[in-house]
Amino acid sequence: MQMIEVIRQKRDGAELTPRQIEWFVEAYTRGEVPDYQAAALAMAIYLQGMTRQETVNLTLAMAQSGEQLDLHDTVPFVVDKHSSGGVGDKTTLVVLPLVAACNVPVGKMSGRGLGSSGGTLDKMESFPGWSAELTLKQFKRQLKEISLVLAGQTTELAPADGKLYALRDVTGTIASIPLIAASIMSKKLAAGADAIVLDVKVGKGAFLATLDDARNLATQMVEIGQDAGRKTVALIADMNQPLGHAVGNALEVKEAISTLNGEGPGDFWAHCLEIAGHMLVLAGAATTLEEARQLATIARDDGRAFHKFRLLVEHQGGSASLVDDPTKIAVAKYTDSVYASQSGYITGIDAGAVGWRCLTLGGGRTVKTDSIDHAVGMVIPTKVGDYVKKTGSIRHYPCQRHI
Ligand code: URA
Repeated sequence: MQMIEVIRQKRDGAELTPRQIEWFVEAYTRGEVPDYQAAALAMAIYLQGMTRQETVNLTLAMAQSGEQLDLHDTVPFVVDKHSSGGVGDKTTLVVLPLVAACNVPVGKMSGRGLGSSGGTLDKMESFPGWSAELTLKQFKRQLKEISLVLAGQTTELAPADGKLYALRDVTGTIASIPLIAASIMSKKLAAGADAIVLDVKVGKGAFLATLDDARNLATQMVEIGQDAGRKTVALIADMNQPLGHAVGNALEVKEAISTLNGEGPGDFWAHCLEIAGHMLVLAGAATTLEEARQLATIARDDGRAFHKFRLLVEHQGGSASLVDDPTKIAVAKYTDSVYASQSGYITGIDAGAVGWRCLTLGGGRTVKTDSIDHAVGMVIPTKVGDYVKKTGSIRHYPCQRHI
């Protein structure tokens, strides 16, 4: 098969055959299709879209590009979650320990930052030594030992997504419904989760700006999950302003730790409770969402969730002492405070602009090989609807840029 023909066909709006999609995924994974041709195809898909059947075929081919985990020899039931990407979205860092603390095993494959959206792995690497590169054996062992594991794409699990994800990040091909659906669901299917909660973000800080697009993505992913025999639900969450206050890898880790300690921002905690609640219901640990939220709140309040997070850091090579004392986690060299130039109500905080600014400070990548500066970012203490005074302070806390 000729890659140029596959590119031309998609460029001209034709439907790719299952064989063409499979061939591309296999050849690209093996390194036989160069990045520049894969980027051309990604752009053609971005511009022309894909039919539902093409999206399903791409998802299955990507899921089958490596090993597919069957975790039932390790734990009876595994639940997973995935966010479609947002600004200040550190939900995984709180939700996973909450759910695992309620005795529901969570084995998750996460990604790195994508465009203006942060990535869980980049955030966790704020702990020096912490690694998401686990072999399947290590993944299973940790799941059995502490009911909680967070891995990245490896050459073993959904490697096609690992390559394509990094390529899309730097080729302007992120915001495509079929590419997002295939990327997320291939990882979820390969990682062997029995139940999946999808956190689909919409708004200025998300890849999809309209509710219609978010619904479309959510529906496609739920259908793919259910067809593959996994219990799947999707929630649509507002991403017009950053989630919580902190944006930037280490700053978000610190905010996640304070949330596990019961001190995090209200909007962020409410979101975590919602996601954790659905995971607990799907796993059968609670019969209603209300009961699930109560279980999760107790797991936070009695310190079990914090303890799980500590174990997650420690088991994957980080130092638990940084969880105990987050002030030791990467701190930016300079801090710059920005004050309100006039009194009034906050009518909007452009999450997309905040995310891109964080990326340009060094918190994300502009080319595949960029390294991340974990310390940089922003802390925005206000939310839409808050009142601020011109007197040189925003509710006594200035917005801070960490440079
Ligand atoms: N998250 C993913 O894993 N993939 C995408 O394409 C977008 C968000």
